[in-house]
Amino acid sequence: MRRIIRSATPPSSLGSEKVLSALELFSNKSTYHTTDAHNSLYKSSDVMVELRKQHSGMCVYCEKDLTDNTPHVEHFRPKSHYWWLAYSWDNLFLSCEECNVRKGDKFEASSKQTSPDARWREDRHNLSSQLNESEVPSLLHPCEIETELEFSFTCDGIAKALSERASYTYSTVQLGREQCVYRRKKLVDDLKIRVQERVFEGEDVTAAVLSEIKSFYGKALKLSGEYPSFRMHLVRSKKLSSFLSEAFSDEPWPVDSSV
Ligand SMILES: [Zn+2]
Repeated sequence: MRRIIRSATPPSSLGSEKVLSALELFSNKSTYHTTDAHNSLYKSSDVMVELRKQHSGMCVYCEKDLTDNTPHVEHFRPKSHYWWLAYSWDNLFLSCEECNVRKGDKFEASSKQTSPDARWREDRHNLSSQLNESEVPSLLHPCEIETELEFSFTCDGIAKALSERASYTYSTVQLGREQCVYRRKKLVDDLKIRVQERVFEGEDVTAAVLSEIKSFYGKALKLSGEYPSFRMHLVRSKKLSSFLSEAFSDEPWPVDSSV
């Protein structure tokens, strides 16, 4: 899981007449009304384009690449409880189906759920910070997370939660599920194979390892490869260099600390 930087301006469709009349209906009944028409309003093409851009095409929770999948729009505060935030820009995120289904309507907080007050109509796109402060949700909010402080990883792809809220998030969306572990581990396995191939072709092992680590890390910085938090943690903690040092210990390769 990594921090999502949210643009302040919501996509224009979230202010359409259809959205406003749907909110009026929910307001009269004090509940979200599930219909295909209502659900389609938070999946308009301008919303999806902007969400894909802000998430770099990855799931907000597990960081899986969603290029070949149909992404789900995730309501951080579930619309079943927070009908008034069903079309609020800062409540919408992009997730994979697996995370979205596991998260479902689950939402716990230290304080009682906030009810809509007079401000919600005007401020509904920018309420997350205030609500996070007053409710203190158990789930980590994607806009406030410092990845390094919340999760650590092993080169085998296993994630470990480092805080109470990270632990709640980990178990709620099951970040330790087999598919996630397998895909993270495969990134390291593939890197190791690439080094072996380069060395086999005559390249110096130190140069091959450093080049591959830089590329691995660069994809995290540029958000051009899935699982950026995993990539960053392995490189910054030097777990990856230690792992490769051991894997290629027969070769004269000093552990480099310049990456
Ligand atoms: Zn996911």
